[in-house]
Amino acid sequence: MNTEAIGGQMSLIDLYSDARTQPSRAMRSFMAEAEVGDEQEGEDPTVNTLIEQTCSLLGTEAAVYLPSGTMCNEIAIRVHCSPGDEIICHDSAHIIHFESGAPAALSGAMIRPISGPHGQFSAEAVEAAVRSDVRHDRYAPRSRLVVIEQTANLAGGTVWSPGNIERIVAVGKKHDLRMHMDGARLFNACAASGLPATAYARHFDSVWVDFSKGLGAPVGAVLAGSAQFIREAWRFKQQWGGSMRQAGIIAAGCLYALRNNLSRLELDHELAVQLARGLSAIPGLRVDPERVETNIVLFDVADFDDSAETFVRRMRARGIGFGAFGLNVVRAVTHMDISAKDIQRVVETVASAAHSRSASAAASS
Ligand SMILES: *Cc1c(COP(=O)(O)O)cnc(C)c1O
Repeated sequence: MNTEAIGGQMSLIDLYSDARTQPSRAMRSFMAEAEVGDEQEGEDPTVNTLIEQTCSLLGTEAAVYLPSGTMCNEIAIRVHCSPGDEIICHDSAHIIHFESGAPAALSGAMIRPISGPHGQFSAEAVEAAVRSDVRHDRYAPRSRLVVIEQTANLAGGTVWSPGNIERIVAVGKKHDLRMHMDGARLFNACAASGLPATAYARHFDSVWVDFSKGLGAPVGAVLAGSAQFIREAWRFKQQWGGSMRQAGIIAAGCLYALRNNLSRLELDHELAVQLARGLSAIPGLRVDPERVETNIVLFDVADFDDSAETFVRRMRARGIGFGAFGLNVVRAVTHMDISAKDIQRVVETVASAAHSRSASAAASS
């Protein structure tokens, strides 16, 4: 009998996403005590404090609290783009794969996906994708917006360098493009590079940060930009039903996260490297620990299991949550509910699954 295969009975070590964090006891009691008011009217003091503190971290003029990062992306796209406009982004971007086609559905925008290693593209690739003679050409869509995802999720949490961003911004300026940063994991980029968030955010017309990912809050994201941009963003927040009432209850979780959890993101990065090192020693798994920059580890299971889906299902039965992101690619994300001991258990569990698999392969041959 396999004593490990007790599924739901055993507490799950959930590496599926850093969105899986549970609010801590201390965060919950901070939330319960939050001062609240009418958020729609700008009268929730906790939301207002969160906005001020986020603005000062990002160096932006104004910001708005929203229920999700997806809504931040989609409101920004709606403000920047008119129907028929084109968005230049990486072909692995969240706005393409995980937002239910919202750029098309809500903004009538076209997407021009471009490629490049590590989930990133170059200024030259942007230059080549821009419809530069659009003023004289009724045929092409209008290039309007460049979206950069910091860190690049599907590429394994890679960090865009300020240098590359600056070169892309220069191309954008030349062609009158707007710049948007999907900053779901911007603070992970900051922890990895040692740079302040302002060093990245200052190049963008709009930028947002997620509090429900590595920072460990249960709900919310903040979209930031110029006062004029945020005035426009508020129109769509209202129109799309994103305006709230006593939102300070949830915003308090974000505020608590800013004060207490920002400085611990480096620990997640260290554990991600430890995980990658442990997995790289297991026969049949392909992973390069040198490529782990933040809290995401991608590894290839083609020589270990039938598919990523099968691997994820087998590991779930053994109490480990992974994500299948491609035919043979598995994703693991470290976060504040994952300890060094958990990582050790994950590596041991995967290694023992490898042994039982080679044992059963030997028995059946
Ligand atoms: C999670 C994520 C989003 C969406 O954020 P939600 O708060 O889950 O809506 C957008 N972009 C990236 C890169 C993400 O990882």
